[in-house]
Amino acid sequence: MGSLDLTGRVALVTGATSGIGAATAELLAQRGAHVLVAGRDSSRGDSVVAAIRARGGKADFVAADLREAQSVRQLARRAVELGGGRVDILVNNAGIYPFGPTEKATESEVDTVYALNVKAPFHLVAELAPAMAERGGGAIVNVSTMVAAYGALGMALYGSSKAAVELLTKAWAAEYGPRGVRVNAVRPGPVRTEGTAGMGDDLSVLAAQAPAGRPAEPQEIAEAIGYLVSDAASFVQGALLPVDGGRTAV
Ligand code: NAP
Repeated sequence: MGSLDLTGRVALVTGATSGIGAATAELLAQRGAHVLVAGRDSSRGDSVVAAIRARGGKADFVAADLREAQSVRQLARRAVELGGGRVDILVNNAGIYPFGPTEKATESEVDTVYALNVKAPFHLVAELAPAMAERGGGAIVNVSTMVAAYGALGMALYGSSKAAVELLTKAWAAEYGPRGVRVNAVRPGPVRTEGTAGMGDDLSVLAAQAPAGRPAEPQEIAEAIGYLVSDAASFVQGALLPVDGGRTAV
């Protein structure tokens, strides 16, 4: 039967200097993958890499600002070099989530949210999925959000960007799935990360609406990603997996 083990695989995780991405990088490395930790902040990146190496894992930091398509493509090429000619697993996790009324969003905010949340995954998949398909195997996980599933107040910009990512997940499953590349998404609910630290009590208030009644820890989202990229999920393709404490079920 399928296994969670990732020995011998090369995994690129974006936004791996913080929160869900850092927890995912650590989990995938623990399961044997060589993890390429992507982000902009090299001191945070270096400390994620150091933590992985301290436990005997294999990791390298790759700096990239994903707002520019050219830098996204460079990241993909650098990742292939560091991976010894291959990337087997891609986790599109880097993302920003500004909330607020539609009329208050500036043109630059709209452009940045779409550049990072939608266009960066698009270009990374364009760069990496064809080679995975040629090798006959690979796994891609896109990190969405529960608010891509329903209309939440103040989340039009963010939710719509992730709704695009969810359709891309299904479109890429159709496009690359027949050649062995499994493409799936996780839909987290509220998670305690560096990025949500500034929300204070609002995070718990949001989380209280779900059966679990609390925010998740980043490791709880990483566990779902770790499953989806592994052989244990060999027949899971094009799925949008809620990891939201039950919020979208009720
Ligand atoms: P976070 O703590 O805010 O960290 C964001 C990550 O994205 C950092 O590693 C950051 O790295 C990277 N990043 C930001 N801007 C970037 C840019 N321009 N270029 C390259 N990398 C950039 O994030 P998080 O809360 O763990 O969220 C991770 C993902 O989960 C996001 O896609 C988010 O939408 C989704 N999500 C989060 C929650 C939640 O409650 N936290 C809920 C549902 C979904 P650097 O600063 O090093 O560049």
